[in-house]
Amino acid sequence: MEKIKAEAVVEDLRASFKAGKTKAYEWRVSQLEGIARMIMERETEIMEALQSDLGKPNMEAYLHEISLSKSACLFALKQLKEWMKPEKVPAVITNFPSSAKIVVEPLGVVLIISTWNYPFSLSIDPVIGAIAAGNALVLKPSEIAPATSAFFAKYLPEYMDNSCIKVVEGAIAETTTLLEQKWDKIFYTGNGRVGRIVMAAAAKHLTPVALELGGKSPVVVDSDVNLKVAAKRIVVGKWGCNNGQACIAPDYIITTKSFASTLVEALKTTLERFYGKDPLKSADLSRIVNSNHFKRLTNLLDDENVSSKILYGGMQDEKQLKIAPTLLLDVPHDSLVMKEEIFGPLLPIIMVEKLEDSFDFINSMPKPLAAYLFTNNKKLEKYFIRNVSAGGILINDVALHISNPHLPFGGVGDSGIGAYHGKFSFDAFSHKKGVLSRGYAADIPARYPPYTPQKQWV
Ligand code: NAD
Repeated sequence: MEKIKAEAVVEDLRASFKAGKTKAYEWRVSQLEGIARMIMERETEIMEALQSDLGKPNMEAYLHEISLSKSACLFALKQLKEWMKPEKVPAVITNFPSSAKIVVEPLGVVLIISTWNYPFSLSIDPVIGAIAAGNALVLKPSEIAPATSAFFAKYLPEYMDNSCIKVVEGAIAETTTLLEQKWDKIFYTGNGRVGRIVMAAAAKHLTPVALELGGKSPVVVDSDVNLKVAAKRIVVGKWGCNNGQACIAPDYIITTKSFASTLVEALKTTLERFYGKDPLKSADLSRIVNSNHFKRLTNLLDDENVSSKILYGGMQDEKQLKIAPTLLLDVPHDSLVMKEEIFGPLLPIIMVEKLEDSFDFINSMPKPLAAYLFTNNKKLEKYFIRNVSAGGILINDVALHISNPHLPFGGVGDSGIGAYHGKFSFDAFSHKKGVLSRGYAADIPARYPPYTPQKQWV
């Protein structure tokens, strides 16, 4: 993308924003309704795009992308009037008499840079927040999911107001040019390395950012659990989420030495029940997105200290870009697979003497996007919530917290800055303006110079 084109796009959007178009409640509603209609009328095209980009099973595409985004849009439509209302706050004696309120206003023209693993929902969900808050925007989908990117380029203009909402397709060069422009917020989803590039570019214009990043999300499994259910939830939360290519997929398990073999057996049995004896042939598993990521993942297994720890799986089909669900027991803590976010179908299991040791282990790593605990022990649950720092925590399940719009979704530390979903999305793209309003009564002379001795009490 040429610089001049990017400038023209932003100028165009800024003119629409300045004209006040996006601020009107009616405009916001019409655009959200446009998104809801697009999701409902183009469900087949969305599924086809996700199938083409990731071999994503239709059921997964529906549950994790289409249905969740539709709910997010309908939730915003239902709540919008309430969210937009000024919030009255108490007046204080030093301002007497006065009234005080918080008025929300849109930030302006925002840039949304999206990623490839949930390429539909991770693009449209922040768009919903930006529109609900009354902003003009550019969506830059990921080039690594080209079919979904093309879907947005084709259909967003058909269903939405193109003078305020634009799609720019492209890769690093195009994103770099976009990042040189002045935005009122940049909302980025992706890895932390590029997150730093985004933040540095934003700093030049003093632009606020939301960085939705990843990390190594741990699952701690106590021996006091309903193992059958726990195993099903771990398996579906790892491999049933894009074959592990999900930001909140379990990255590794921690359990005690004494319970590890029981847990491994339960996971193996469940995996075989869900994906059969030859998982490379299962239609219920997404493929790896491209050959770069395939190589990145197989490299993790190339380490002899890691490949010797494969307990289950490990099969690969480079032509089809498929890797089978793979369990690894007791890999060295300094191996690459325990240092980098895995973002694929490999699942190491770390063993500790007693479960409490797992908290120190987790807290010695960069803060993850999610942390999971399976236990019936309420004391342990309380301890976990209090002592483990993560973007979000889920007890006795995996990944499901993403679907509650009353919970903020976002990282902490290395897993990101800022949160969204539900009202948090609206807030992420709004400025809260403090407004104090006074009349002319009770004008106290003591506040005005000259500060004569009669006026002074200090
Ligand atoms: P990606 O390669 O699609 O990159 C993300 C975006 O950044 C793309 O739009 C891409 O064009 C752009 N980009 C890439 N390199 C760039 C550069 N040098 N300069 C400017 N822009 C650039 O996606 P990815 O980074 O592989 O995504 C995977 C990561 O995202 C994982 O770490 C995962 O945990 C994280 N993730 C986080 C969330 C979340 O909600 N927190 C969701 C999904 C994925």
